[in-house]
Amino acid sequence: MKTIYDLTLIVPLYNEQENVLTFLKELRTIDIRPNLSVLLINDGSTDQTWNKITSIKKSDFNFKVEAISFSRNFGKESALAAGLTHCQNTAAIIIDGDRQHPLSLIPTMINTYENGDYEIINATKRSRGKESWLSKLQSDFFYASLKTLSGQNLKNHSDFKLLSPFAINSWKKLGESNLFFRGNIGWLGLRSKNIYFEVQERTSGNTKFNLTEKVSLSLTSITSFSTIPLKITTLLGVIFFIFAFLLSAEALITIFTGNAEKGFPTVIFLILITGSCILTSLGIIEEYLS
Ligand code: UDP
Ligand code: MG
Repeated sequence: MKTIYDLTLIVPLYNEQENVLTFLKELRTIDIRPNLSVLLINDGSTDQTWNKITSIKKSDFNFKVEAISFSRNFGKESALAAGLTHCQNTAAIIIDGDRQHPLSLIPTMINTYENGDYEIINATKRSRGKESWLSKLQSDFFYASLKTLSGQNLKNHSDFKLLSPFAINSWKKLGESNLFFRGNIGWLGLRSKNIYFEVQERTSGNTKFNLTEKVSLSLTSITSFSTIPLKITTLLGVIFFIFAFLLSAEALITIFTGNAEKGFPTVIFLILITGSCILTSLGIIEEYLS
C-alpha cells in the first residue's frame, strides 16, 4: 500500500471570478486526509480572478493556498505544466476550477491510488455531459484521428487525474515543449486506473475552448505523437518519382520518334528532376526528424 502524505491540487483558472472562491469553499467541506496544498494558476485572467485570489487570508481555509499568475493567457496546457513543474515530491491532482469536475471524487481517487498499484488515477467522463452536436462531432473526430495516428485512445479522458510523485517526475523528464498534458501523461505508459464521473454543468462563466483552440490543440497533439504526417512526404516523393520516371520515358520516346517540340522535353526533364530531388530530400529530412 502506498500512502499519500502530501497532496497538491493544481487548478488552472482563466476568467473564473465567479468560481474560484466557491471552489475553495466547497473543497473545505470535503474530507481529504493527506496534507493538502492548493496551487491556483491564474492563466492571465482579464476579470477579477486574481483579485479574488489575493484577497484570500491564511485563516480562511484549513489547507495551504498558493498561487502563480501568468503575465498573459498562455492556455490551459501551459497552466498545467507550470503547476506540475512547481510540485516537489508530492502527489498531485489536476482539476478544473470551474466546478465541472466533482470535488467529491477526490477521496475515491486517493483511496483507489493507495489500495492499488497505480501511478495515475484517471477520472474518466462517463458521458460527455451537455454538449452541442457540433462540439461532440469535433471531439469524436479529434479522438479518432489521435487514435489512428498515435495509437492512444483518449476518448472521454479528462485532465482530472491523480499523479504519483514518480509520474510527475517522469513527466518532468520528458522535457516536452509541445504541451498536451493528457497525451504526454498517457505516452509515459505508467500503470493507471480509470474511475468514472459525470461531468457537472458549468454554473457560471463560459467554456474557453472555441474551435480555433480545439484545432490548435489537435495539431499539437497529432504532431507530438505521430510521425505519420511527415511520412506522407516520403510517400508523395515515391509516387512522384514513379510518375516522373514514366513521363520522362514518354518524353524520350517523343525525342527518338522525332515528334518532340524543340526544347520541350528538356523543360519536362528539369521539372521532373527538380521535383523528385526536392521530395526525396524532404523524405530524408523527415526520417531524421521523426
Ligand atoms: N483554463 C485556463 N486557461 C485557458 C482556458 C481554460 O486555465 O486558456 C481553465 C479554466 O478556467 C477551467 C479549465 O481550464 O478551470 C477548463 O476550461 P473550460 O471549462 O473552458 O474547458 P471545458 O470544460 O469547456 O473543456
Ligand atoms: Mg469546463
